[in-house]
Amino acid sequence: MDAIPAPDLPVAVIGAGPIGLPAAAQLVERGLRPAVFEKPVVPVAASACCQSAA
Ligand SMILES: Cc1cc2nc3c(=O)[nH]c(=O)nc-3n(C[C@H](O)[C@H](O)[C@H](O)COP(=O)(O)OP(=O)(O)OC[C@H]3O[C@@H](n4cnc5c(N)ncnc54)[C@H](O)[C@@H]3O)c2cc1C
Repeated sequence: MDAIPAPDLPVAVIGAGPIGLPAAAQLVERGLRPAVFEKPVVPVAASACCQSAA
């Protein structure tokens, strides 16, 4: 792949899924330092499965 221009700007990758992480890795291989943002994990309350039927 051709070298990508590396403007002196910050690079962000939104989402650390199967596309985002390899994209970030390729940016690092090209000398960039991307910031990877992943949305926080929100604990799911076990309300739906544990309510009594009464
Ligand atoms: C039911 C199902 C089964 C599948 N089975 C297969 C399979 O067997 N084989 C296969 O190759 N593909 C399968 N796929 C497709 C595969 O899951 C997708 O192609 C792949 O996950 C896409 O990767 P992605 O990184 O683009 O998106 P995602 O995997 O959706 O990753 C996006 C990331 O961004 C994060 N994100 C979302 N919003 C924000 C935000 N606002 N800020 C920060 N981070 C955020 C998410 O938490 C997530 O980690 C399946 C998909 C589904 C729905």
